[in-house]
Amino acid sequence: MSSLRFNAVGEAFKKKALCVTPPSQFTSDYFGKNVFTKSVMAKYMSKDIMKSLNNAIEKGVTIDIAIADNVATGMKKWAMELGATHYTHWFQPLTDGTAEKHDSFIDYVSGPGEAVIEEFSGKLLVQQEPDASSFPSGGIRSTFEARGYTAWDPSSPAFVVDDTLVIPTIFISYTGESLDMKAPLLKALNAVDKAATAVCQMFDPNVKKVFSYLGWEQEYFLVDEGLYATRPDLLLTGRTLLGHESAKNQQLDDHYFGAVPSRVGAFMRDIEFEAYKYGIPAKTRHNEVAPNQFELAPIFGECNLAVDQNLLMMAIMKRIARRHGFRLLLHEKPFSGINGSGKHNNWSLGTDTGIGLFTPGKTPEGNLLFVTFLVNTLMAVYKNNALLKASIMTAQNAHRLGANEAPPAIVSAFIGTQLTAILDKLEGSTSEEAIMMDDKKKLHLGIARIPEVFLDNTDRNRTSPFAFTGNRFEFRAVGSSANCSSAMAALNTAVAAQLTEFKAEVDAKIAAGSSKEKAIFDVIKSYIKASKAIRFDGNGYSEEWKKEALKRGLDCETCVPEIFKAYTTPESVKLFTSMGVLTEKELHARNEVKWETYTKKIQIEARVLGDLALNHIIPIATRYQSFLLDNVTKIEKVFTGEKAKKLSALDTALIEEIGERIAVIKKAVDDMVDTRRVVNKMEHEYEKAMAYHDKVLPYFDVIRYNTDKLELIVDDEMWTLPKYRELLFIR
Ligand code: ADP
Ligand code: MG
Repeated sequence: MSSLRFNAVGEAFKKKALCVTPPSQFTSDYFGKNVFTKSVMAKYMSKDIMKSLNNAIEKGVTIDIAIADNVATGMKKWAMELGATHYTHWFQPLTDGTAEKHDSFIDYVSGPGEAVIEEFSGKLLVQQEPDASSFPSGGIRSTFEARGYTAWDPSSPAFVVDDTLVIPTIFISYTGESLDMKAPLLKALNAVDKAATAVCQMFDPNVKKVFSYLGWEQEYFLVDEGLYATRPDLLLTGRTLLGHESAKNQQLDDHYFGAVPSRVGAFMRDIEFEAYKYGIPAKTRHNEVAPNQFELAPIFGECNLAVDQNLLMMAIMKRIARRHGFRLLLHEKPFSGINGSGKHNNWSLGTDTGIGLFTPGKTPEGNLLFVTFLVNTLMAVYKNNALLKASIMTAQNAHRLGANEAPPAIVSAFIGTQLTAILDKLEGSTSEEAIMMDDKKKLHLGIARIPEVFLDNTDRNRTSPFAFTGNRFEFRAVGSSANCSSAMAALNTAVAAQLTEFKAEVDAKIAAGSSKEKAIFDVIKSYIKASKAIRFDGNGYSEEWKKEALKRGLDCETCVPEIFKAYTTPESVKLFTSMGVLTEKELHARNEVKWETYTKKIQIEARVLGDLALNHIIPIATRYQSFLLDNVTKIEKVFTGEKAKKLSALDTALIEEIGERIAVIKKAVDDMVDTRRVVNKMEHEYEKAMAYHDKVLPYFDVIRYNTDKLELIVDDEMWTLPKYRELLFIR
């Protein structure tokens, strides 16, 4: 009997929703209470210090050590009042998680053996040297210079978690190369600010800064902790490598937006209370499409901060899930046959004068500004569609993309019928028709005013990986476990380069005697034509689209290790270097890490799958087979001839089927192990990743197919692994 599984099921049914209470009656009472925000800072340091710090945050001016000392002292005082005894630099290595090493504030007053005091200096705030040798670098750190350091990012506020002051930082090598996700993001945000501000100033000289905004929507699964513990695949890989579909899953669409189950409801309230303490404006919560799948989305914010908040939120969710007897699954595809999880990245640009650059304007100038940013974005996505796909691609996300539930593995943009009509109209107009000046030199656009309703009522296309949704673009291909930095760095860099090019083209036309409006219009018109291939309003899941996209010259590659190469094409190298975001060396190093990570992920899965097959599936199936054999022997003792044959016919058929499937599974596992042995000897990361993709991965399907068939025939009571129906419907 498989007591572990049945115990877990029994225990899971007994669990009740926890009672959770908010830290205070009103959210506004405690929102951001653990964050060292500007307004809090102002209470702990002088006006002059605040001014220097603001300069550093807004203009990137270097912070001198005296200022840093002051900030550190204020920070320490504030953190200690919240109960902090330790501090840590918090950084984002190339592993999709975060890293931290806690140090206590204590130091000797005068010397060893003497009394201690709490110390925290500017030096410690600004820079630290974690042992960098265990973090992936893609070969950037040579063995003799294995060090790297973390450096304070003053644009993301410090916060206190439990007893620790957490300081967001970037992570770089001693020779200055980025070893993390944050450094390139900050550079990309800087690049898009510069480029977009220059374009905005053609319309309004008052614009001094452009912000990039991000609103992420975090999807996740919750699985009962006891059931999770008895699935080695979930435990070690975050996804089920085996398991037959449940008879009922999401066919009835009865989970999406349904009433939240009470245990989950308690979890959701709990994570929100926690989010608010850290200033994360959690706004939306609901059931997602698949059973036991849910979503959390905050109000959007400045991109760098939003990324940090997402990373913090994922950690909070993981921690709190355990308090509620759940395990949180952030894997992009934990269960086959039902929807996987994504993290839509709602992205927009906005000026320091309060203008949303993807919000249709109220005046002709405003509309021209809107169309300028819209068309430049389409152009950037068109030119860099392969790169944008590479920016969201991982071993995990590959299972989700193109699986008839998530955007396909082809990047296209959806803008809806109204905007399509407007772009078509512009494309078909002459500049005289489109740009009209009246006697008072006031601009008139030859396009109808973009209707107000449009703002909150964009027609929706759920199958598009990059959709315009009224006042922003929604990059939907991002995976649920991802650090949004990757997608946001690629997108903002691409748009920055595009806007720079646009400005140069317009300037050249003006220099040649064109009016500003005509120059802008002419360039936009040429972009509308040139970027047409990226626009697609149809069904992105369909087979026809794959054929059509190929014809249009969009990147249709589906092999993950191959997709990463989009980062190192001459175009991408030029893009990242010209925008000052990543050097060629860094780009190559990052791909080495991506290939290595890909290989390791598949390698671990292959091992777990082999273990499951040999230690669980085959023994269980053999036991059941032996039980059937026993039955046949007994039948033959009691009955003879035709009668015996008839009575044991079903058993014999099953015995044969089990025997055949076991043989297939065993052979596949053996062959897979042999293949790995050969492949592991390969020297180059790319080659190895390709071999894992081409040669190792195909065994997964064979093993899974046959074990899932066995699951259907073997006595349920003997089956040790919790089944899909239990993982997905017990909550
Ligand atoms: P849906 O599920 O319909 O896509 P949600 O309400 O779940 O929408 O999420 C929309 C996300 O988009 C939220 O995080 C929201 O704050 C964000 N958002 C709204 N407007 C903007 C904008 N201008 N720029 C960036 N993000 C935005
Ligand atoms: Mg969305």
